[in-house]
Amino acid sequence: GSKSYQFMLRTKNPCGKVPNKLYLVMDDLADKFGIGTLRLTTRQTFQLHGILKKNLKTVMRSIIKNMGSTLGACGDLNRNVLAPAAPYTKKEYLFSQVTAENIASLLAPQSGAYYDIWVDGEKIMSAEPPEVIAARNDNSNGTNFPDSPEPIYGTQYLPRKFKIAVTVPTDNSVDILTNDIGIVVVSDSDGEPQGFNIYVGGGMGRTHRLETTFPRLGEPLGYVPKEDILYAVKAIVVTQRENGRRDDRKYSRMKYLINEWGIEKFRSAVEQYYGKKFESFRPLPEWEFRSYLGWHEQGDGALFCGVHVDNGRIGGKMKKALREVIENYNLNVRITPNQNLILCDIRHSWREPITTVLAQAGLLEPRYVDPLNITAMACPSLPLCPLAITEAERGIPDILKRARAVLDKVGIQYNESVVIRVTGCPNGCARPYMAELGFVGDGPNSYQVWLGGTPNQTSLARCFLNRVKNQDLEKVLEPLFYNWRTKRLQGESFGRFTARIGFEKLQEMVDKWD
Ligand code: SF4
Repeated sequence: GSKSYQFMLRTKNPCGKVPNKLYLVMDDLADKFGIGTLRLTTRQTFQLHGILKKNLKTVMRSIIKNMGSTLGACGDLNRNVLAPAAPYTKKEYLFSQVTAENIASLLAPQSGAYYDIWVDGEKIMSAEPPEVIAARNDNSNGTNFPDSPEPIYGTQYLPRKFKIAVTVPTDNSVDILTNDIGIVVVSDSDGEPQGFNIYVGGGMGRTHRLETTFPRLGEPLGYVPKEDILYAVKAIVVTQRENGRRDDRKYSRMKYLINEWGIEKFRSAVEQYYGKKFESFRPLPEWEFRSYLGWHEQGDGALFCGVHVDNGRIGGKMKKALREVIENYNLNVRITPNQNLILCDIRHSWREPITTVLAQAGLLEPRYVDPLNITAMACPSLPLCPLAITEAERGIPDILKRARAVLDKVGIQYNESVVIRVTGCPNGCARPYMAELGFVGDGPNSYQVWLGGTPNQTSLARCFLNRVKNQDLEKVLEPLFYNWRTKRLQGESFGRFTARIGFEKLQEMVDKWD
């Protein structure tokens, strides 16, 4: 049918930064060439669905010309680099964002073919910082990288997609432990960035009924001084390029290499390229989830405002209101890894008129957004994703409503929340294995139920039940929520409760419920 001639197009926006003009262009393109809605993704990018082949070049050209690359947004290479989306002017935040941008630039494929195909050879992108060029090409720094025309990807790209996030201590808005590489800015007592802690080996994707595939949390690799970060990242990527499995895509993510080798062997292999030893991982404070919703001071006299977008889907009234505000006040925006939007650089005197427009569209009224929706995520799934088995984006509004109804019924207060994430297949794009309650499509109209993640996304959930029919969700949720209310420790989150009680007892609670 005509569907096979439609494309999904994904932009690349390190740190989720979207310049004013790019937002307006994406908003237009969605109407002219897409399905009339914009989709924000869990990797801080836009997706445009339903682009016809004959329009692809026009669309790509418009995006590239307005400073939004699509280069390397898909495929077996580095994906969009995450960083906290908040436009705080604090040094550590700015440093995490510059680092994310430099890494994105370092790991962009060097082939000129991209520009030849999409913009007829015109070079439009801005010049790269010298430290990025040096890290890509230099071998004089004590490092030992093999010579290659594609210094990062060699002759054959990576075995599989590759994901990197950068953040600052305590700010886990980026789901740091789910990335192949997770990088944390470490500052001295004056707030001056000194270096980075590095985690490696996180990843979500798995395959149903194949126990040898699994989600995995990143683990500490070590610390590097700030001037070495690009070399360290390159050394990790080259280690995966040279050693990651290429015979079976199911096992080709870096997490399987680290799992097979163990962290010690992996670290020594990386150090061979890096040319130095990693220092020991610095102690970090507890992670916290940050949504950035509502109004905040940036630190430079301006304000920013986080707007909740259900499942990242911007359409209808919301699309109009956002466009109006973004266009009238010439605002830059940021996409968060939780699929929300941040309006940046707002003067105090604009706060009131902007609030009025957003409120009229039903945005910005926390009373109307259930706390469950604030932390919930779903992937696009049916009908947009070819891998989808079960509903996710279209199904989650109903799932959340029903979850809320059960919480009400068993007497859990409205301001209590549970992190719920839904995906249409085990690939796990909305990171369901970090949820307190994860639903992973495993058959027509059925889900695996995963339990045990935490509100700050620091532990993995485990699969509690298979093939729970959509219409039977209450039979599982009611006993679980009831027992949470009656047997929880003071302030204990749902995820920590289920992890403490254990699956055997939880199973009994579900079995004898009626
Ligand atoms: Fe598609 Fe699966 Fe990703 Fe959902 S989790 S978007 S169904 S690949």
